[in-house]
Amino acid sequence: MYYGFDVGGTKIEFGAFDEKLVRQATERVPTPGDDYQKLIEILAGLVAKYDEQFGCEGTVGIGIPGIEKAEDGTVLTVNVPAAKGKTLRADLEAKIGRSVALNNDANCFALSEAWDEELQDESVVLGLILGTGFGGGIVIDGTVVSGQNNVAGELGHMRMPIDAWMQLGENAPIFDCGCEKKGCIDNYLSGRGFEMLYAHFNGESKKAIEIINAFYEGEETASKFVDNYMEMLAMVFGGMFTGIDPNVVVLGGGLSNFDYIYEEMPKRLPKHLLSIANPPKIIKAKHGDSGGVRGAAFLNIKR
Ligand SMILES: [Zn+2]
Repeated sequence: MYYGFDVGGTKIEFGAFDEKLVRQATERVPTPGDDYQKLIEILAGLVAKYDEQFGCEGTVGIGIPGIEKAEDGTVLTVNVPAAKGKTLRADLEAKIGRSVALNNDANCFALSEAWDEELQDESVVLGLILGTGFGGGIVIDGTVVSGQNNVAGELGHMRMPIDAWMQLGENAPIFDCGCEKKGCIDNYLSGRGFEMLYAHFNGESKKAIEIINAFYEGEETASKFVDNYMEMLAMVFGGMFTGIDPNVVVLGGGLSNFDYIYEEMPKRLPKHLLSIANPPKIIKAKHGDSGGVRGAAFLNIKR
């Protein structure tokens, strides 16, 4: 059995998956505020419970909105105070007597999609989350690429390329990023960025869904804005896909439900890629809310 934990700010979801990657158990419990010992006990308790239920020793993976520091194994996270600065992986390993895999939630999202039945044989799968933030995960031959600092795939903190910047025109806003840099694409192309840009250029705040609805109704301001956004997205994707050359790109997060993206990217992308490159297939995520727990469990699968 493959066990996965999706540890979030308010709840922990547990999932157990069999050899065919079919879910056999699900359990959700509240995340303990900032009580670290309680967190370890909850995780270890669920492992013991399902070991007994299935009569086996399942492998254990954890997905968390945070990054494990490569030097000392402590977790950098804002959303899960109980795990902040703690050596979660090592402490759980000591408690349950087996190795534990841990990765961030965007990488787990990408891994979950990469192990979808239809994508299992693709060699390079790129997962991108166009949600509150712009997250990413790179999966090669069924395994997450983490890099030496566990930051590989943090594509939202690449800065805006010059062509996308010029697309914004003379009145281009310089947005500060939570990572303390300026101009990270996280603040321009995420769902939040989409709204911030709209407000900047049009002087009124609207939710992404309102902008999208206005676009579908043919409203001029929204149409112009969406056209600009699509071109910038194609420019940024052009740079990313030239660097990573994925077979398939899977989009998740709220803005990934904007179907116009899937119509426009195949048309707009080619001119932003090298002339010998074909655009990758760009599809919508299939596993939605269960991506975190699936990906966490699949951290222990090898092709
Ligand atoms: Zn940043």
